[in-house]
Amino acid sequence: MGCIYVSPSQKQELAAGRLSGQVSLLRCPVCREPLHVAGGKSLICQQKHTFDISKYGYVNFLRKPIETKYGNALFTSRAEVSRSGWFAPLTGRISAMLLETLPNQRRGLSLLDAGCGEGSHLAAIAEQISALSDQQVTGVGLDISKEGIALAAKRHSGLTWFVANLAESPLSDRSFDGVLNILSPSNYGEFHRVLTQGGLLVKVIPGPDYLRELRELLHPGSRKESSLEAETRHRLQNLFRLEESSRLTYRREVQPPLLEHLIAMTPLSWGADSEARRKAAKLDRLTVTVDLILLIGRKRS
Ligand SMILES: [Zn+2]
Repeated sequence: MGCIYVSPSQKQELAAGRLSGQVSLLRCPVCREPLHVAGGKSLICQQKHTFDISKYGYVNFLRKPIETKYGNALFTSRAEVSRSGWFAPLTGRISAMLLETLPNQRRGLSLLDAGCGEGSHLAAIAEQISALSDQQVTGVGLDISKEGIALAAKRHSGLTWFVANLAESPLSDRSFDGVLNILSPSNYGEFHRVLTQGGLLVKVIPGPDYLRELRELLHPGSRKESSLEAETRHRLQNLFRLEESSRLTYRREVQPPLLEHLIAMTPLSWGADSEARRKAAKLDRLTVTVDLILLIGRKRS
């Protein structure tokens, strides 16, 4: 998929074709009426609310841009870190779990990544599920950052990418078999609304030792707050039955330039002074702990 060059105008055309087959997943974020593809270039509702399909194939549903701390450099770094296989144990476990837990759907499996950033996790999971089964995956990635979504659409043109706010999302009720929410803020009410009956929420949060060695370098003496897991469980359980909660911990040795990308993608580095960042980026190598907590919730009816 990655080695075939697709020009921007072809990307827009491909996306329009794909979106025509996915309109049942969508609704107008303004009036909640159905959307359809018009002229191969936009999505439009009956009340004529119109959202253009960009030349890279993503759709921007925000009426005005939302300022985020996440710029292009951060997403490029995160894509590089993902490409190195950094998150492979995580995406592998999620793919296997979804295949085991969700029934084999004749119509295929629809997955939403809410807060997908540059789309690496969704792309990896969709690819793994297709490789391990005969399930067709319809993957939709949503993020408020246009920079993240633009990068996702450029790199993974076989999936659907939306710039949108979860609170005013362009997604219809009961349309997704699975919602992924990986190291990203939640909107549990919205996840519940868009999931099919019995659908699964996969929520991933950092564990207490997540990137511990980097944190110690950039923020000496700081401690990670430990109540995150309990709080997250509590909030999730209002609308979901907690089916599984597990911890995934592994260590990886990193060297430059990957180490610089790892520092650039982590929020921890925002508070660090530039001297500490420079020193850390100059290390020959560093062994870093990845510590993640996976919470799997089944939609309560
Ligand atoms: Zn509308």
